[in-house]
Amino acid sequence: MPSDSVTASNFIREIIKDDVKNNKNDGKVYTRFPPEPNGYLHIGHAKSICMNFGFAEDFNGLCNLRFDDTNPVKEGAEYAESIMNDIRWLGFEWEDRLFYASDYFDKLYEFAIDLIKKGKAYVCDLSADEIRNTRGTLKEPGINSPYRDRSIDENLDLFKRMRSGEFENGTRVLRAKIDMASGNLNMRDPVMYRILHATHHRSGDKWCIYPTYDFTHGQSDSIEGITHSICSLEFEDHRPLYDWYIEQLEIHHPQQIEFARLNLNHTIMSKRKLRELVEERYVDGWDDPRMPTLCGLRRRGFTPTAIRNFLTRIGVAKRNSVVDVAMLEHCLREEQNKSAPRRMAVLNPLKVVIDNYPDDLTEEMEAVNNPEDASAGIRKVPFSKTLYIERDDFMEDPPKKFYRLAPGREVRLRYAYFIKCEDVIKDETTGEVIELHCTYDPASRGGNSPDGRKVKATLHWVSAEHAIDAEVRLYDHLFSKEDPLEEEQGSNWKDNINQSSRVILNTCKLEPSLKDVSVGYFCQFERQGYFCVDLDSNANKLVFNRSVGLKDEWLRMQNK
Ligand code: ATP
Ligand code: MG
Repeated sequence: MPSDSVTASNFIREIIKDDVKNNKNDGKVYTRFPPEPNGYLHIGHAKSICMNFGFAEDFNGLCNLRFDDTNPVKEGAEYAESIMNDIRWLGFEWEDRLFYASDYFDKLYEFAIDLIKKGKAYVCDLSADEIRNTRGTLKEPGINSPYRDRSIDENLDLFKRMRSGEFENGTRVLRAKIDMASGNLNMRDPVMYRILHATHHRSGDKWCIYPTYDFTHGQSDSIEGITHSICSLEFEDHRPLYDWYIEQLEIHHPQQIEFARLNLNHTIMSKRKLRELVEERYVDGWDDPRMPTLCGLRRRGFTPTAIRNFLTRIGVAKRNSVVDVAMLEHCLREEQNKSAPRRMAVLNPLKVVIDNYPDDLTEEMEAVNNPEDASAGIRKVPFSKTLYIERDDFMEDPPKKFYRLAPGREVRLRYAYFIKCEDVIKDETTGEVIELHCTYDPASRGGNSPDGRKVKATLHWVSAEHAIDAEVRLYDHLFSKEDPLEEEQGSNWKDNINQSSRVILNTCKLEPSLKDVSVGYFCQFERQGYFCVDLDSNANKLVFNRSVGLKDEWLRMQNK
């Protein structure tokens, strides 16, 4: 599929290109996307997906999907399902190359035995706390474990007994014997295996010892014959350890290349924190349209094309940075502007009666479906005596710069007529404006000026009798702070949640052409933004999400 992805031109592409040219790995390119099935994918993962699958495509290689499922406690099949669904949605296929690190548990166990036999690993009886406390710091070396010099035979015996279930959780671990004084903390005799009497979502109760992520990831890449292990920057410090394992084991050596993670302002991108938002019900679920998850973005109305265009545009770098979420929104707007049909919808309705319009007349007005695309044609929109306009489009006592409807003023109703406000009706107790009485000029049919007279505003509208009721949900950033993790004294990051990140409007009136739309439908509501039908819609209730508004903050910043 898409070879447009983030692979356009960047330092990783250059490395791969050179490797292919120099016939390294026989000129083959083999990559993988290695998620841990402990949450839903977010847009940061999409960057990694597009790169791994994209490079494979561009260099006639292959890309595996591999679940790095080494932690039985936090992982589950629900997550694996959603991950596969999201990758396909982005437009990528792994065909028969679906793998699980848990399928390598036997192999990894053999690797561990091999390292013990080589005197490169030992069983350590220190507790997790003791291991942490003897690890040293960046300035100070660690302290050798008293169990470090156990004999190979004793290590083999203990490790086998760990496997057979003889010991309680946390009583022993297997550690690599490297260097407690290494400048790299990852090299200070890291843990390879821990005892965990837990059922794994795939291997069931076969194992009660599990390899750590660090003892799994690199070897899994090696087993699969991966040539380029592309991963995010935080693994740079782990590379010497991965290299060490592979060299000691004398197995195929993939090349690890690190890139900077995607960070977005106003957004949190850690699965652990996203999970907290879901579990503590700050949002409705992983697919809440305010979430940066792929299922959330999809529900919000983002398309794979918009996401891939965004990822192409931000490129791939070696240094961490924060991208403006306005740019992601810009990419959707850019795509939708070309393709989304235009429709009229009144979100906050105010009733308008055209006093001089015939009581039972309905006229069909011709409306353009997409000014950017002539082939989209036109549709008919019914016009009648009683209409709705947007409450915000009327002011009884307008300030100077307000050009829309006001008492005595004339405006254009798009595709329809010029109307003039003659009278304002208010609720007797609250004083709220509840209805306007207007007159129309029959000579202005189609919204054209009959005599060259000008109006300063064009409003959208919906015929009351023909309108469809709907609920519309408007969204804003989930976090008002640019850096949601910035904590002030006495507050935590969850206090930064934007309390008005979702506004639900449930008296909206839509033009009748929207009667039969269903989930997956996108359009522009004129003057309001781009919208899509939400999953909550059913036969009795139509629900729309606003994907993005019309105002393009990103373009505005570029033009400044
Ligand atoms: P998180 O911190 O959100 O939990 P993770 O790294 O633990 O992410 P994994 O399931 O291990 O999640 O990620 C799978 C792959 O996606 C890894 O190779 C990781 O480097 C990459 N990845 C994760 N987050 C980002 C991001 N923000 N930008 C780019 N790549 C990412
Ligand atoms: Mg991870």
